[in-house]
Amino acid sequence: MADKNERICIIGGGPAGLSCAMYLEKKGYTDYVIYEKLNKVGGKCWSPKLKVKHNGVEEERSFETGAIMGAITYHAVSEMEEFGGYYHKGPDFKRGEPNMRREFRNLDGTVDHPFEPKVNFSIGKMLKLLKLKKQMKKLNELMQTKYVGYDCYGHLGVAKGEYYGISKGVDGYCGATKENSFPNYIKGTNPNLKDLALPFSEFCKLNGVEEVQRIWIAPFTSFGYGFFDEIPAALVMKYLDVTTALEFVNMKLWTWQDGTQEIYECVNRKLMHPAVLETEVVRVERPDGKVNVTVRKNGEESTETFDKLIVTTPLDYFKDYADATQEEKTLFGKIVHERYCDYIATFEPGKSPNISGYMVDNMVPERLGHAMVYYNRWQHLDRDCPATVYALANHTGTPDVDYDTVMKTMDEDMKKVGFPIKEKLFAQEVYYCPHVSAKDYADGWYDKLEAIQGTLNTYYAGEIISFGDMEDTCAASKDIIGRFF
Ligand SMILES: Cc1cc2nc3c(=O)[nH]c(=O)nc-3n(C[C@H](O)[C@H](O)[C@H](O)COP(=O)(O)OP(=O)(O)OC[C@H]3O[C@@H](n4cnc5c(N)ncnc54)[C@H](O)[C@@H]3O)c2cc1C
Repeated sequence: MADKNERICIIGGGPAGLSCAMYLEKKGYTDYVIYEKLNKVGGKCWSPKLKVKHNGVEEERSFETGAIMGAITYHAVSEMEEFGGYYHKGPDFKRGEPNMRREFRNLDGTVDHPFEPKVNFSIGKMLKLLKLKKQMKKLNELMQTKYVGYDCYGHLGVAKGEYYGISKGVDGYCGATKENSFPNYIKGTNPNLKDLALPFSEFCKLNGVEEVQRIWIAPFTSFGYGFFDEIPAALVMKYLDVTTALEFVNMKLWTWQDGTQEIYECVNRKLMHPAVLETEVVRVERPDGKVNVTVRKNGEESTETFDKLIVTTPLDYFKDYADATQEEKTLFGKIVHERYCDYIATFEPGKSPNISGYMVDNMVPERLGHAMVYYNRWQHLDRDCPATVYALANHTGTPDVDYDTVMKTMDEDMKKVGFPIKEKLFAQEVYYCPHVSAKDYADGWYDKLEAIQGTLNTYYAGEIISFGDMEDTCAASKDIIGRFF
């Protein structure tokens, strides 16, 4: 029987930590503390406000350094919106709202139209598009038949050919019905699911749908989630399940007027115990059925005792500041993450992109460190509006590119395609999309993690559990609080 008076510590005030607190409150828990090391909540949802010009008049607008978009499949995020009272815009955008329009740009600066048969028509292009359409249909069918059960959150049982988790389905979309859509738990056996441990490129080859990578690459690799020759197909397909991928293709996406950070600021304001800011957890000790958490604030250390601990921050770092067991050390030592770099910049007068753009030719390991996408959220503003530019700095088997080189390379790329950078207003490299290799996935890493949930009164949440996006992260919190508290 759950004891609702237990004292619970949550490490991290990002989407995972705040959603854990929200779901704890919904279950009747009242005694929890969230420690956040920065002076703000939201983690990688960070939306600075900048002054911009519109018809020559200066006004303030939100920009994104981290998370940008959602889709109809963002169920847990919707629950956060409801709790905080702050809602998305889209998928049909009105003038004055941040939108998701985009173009494809070649590296010589010309605009490409790879999915529009009538533009630059040729028989070769037409045949390629027909092949793509056929393979999209085939993949959609395979995911609903051969890979039934693939689209629940998390990875429980997948390596053994089973599935168990909250359904991600949307009633009426891609075969989902009322019975198997969010927030139902679905469970079953399907040996074919083991294929999802393969790198996505191999998974596509196995199923004769190699062409679909052309669709999946833009919302996946350019958003920093890695390359298809290294990332297990499970990560690709659980994030970009067929419904979500089609919403991307049809540009039926969501954005937030004041930025994604505001979702979490609003939730934090409504919580019984808003996050304790500028307070870093520096040590965790778990003797005698209790959890002692040491924090550093203003240079001073202090220790508090709790009944339970929820870790929403990187587990590969947790093992170094906690009294980690051998099992934790071994398991968390296998976690890898992407090095995703981005900056918000202004451009030479009149030269900023007034639409977002994908540079698909840079989305290959050979072009590591090159700009892959630029994001302009305020299309109706003057052409001096800042935009965000993104690049990946790592790939398995290729030497990493250092931060300064990535920054310089992105500047050169933007100049070459016609958007010369004037000034960087904000630049960063982030610990991004923690996951395990295809081999460790096949070895049942996720089931091993599940087996130690609750040991030493410790629970693991955060983006590693399902996938490094807002929805999978918040849904993982719903699942963990739902099952263990
Ligand atoms: C450039 C970029 C683009 C993205 N685009 C999208 C998108 O379009 N859509 C989408 O859904 N998602 C997107 N994401 C991903 C999304 O932002 C993350 O998946 C999500 O923020 C993960 O939430 P989290 O709480 O697990 O981790 P985080 O957001 O990383 O939050 C962890 C928090 O823990 C704090 N912390 C760390 N260590 C400690 C410690 N020892 N003590 C106290 N506090 C600590 C950190 O300061 C941070 O606030 C994007 C991210 C980036 C960077």
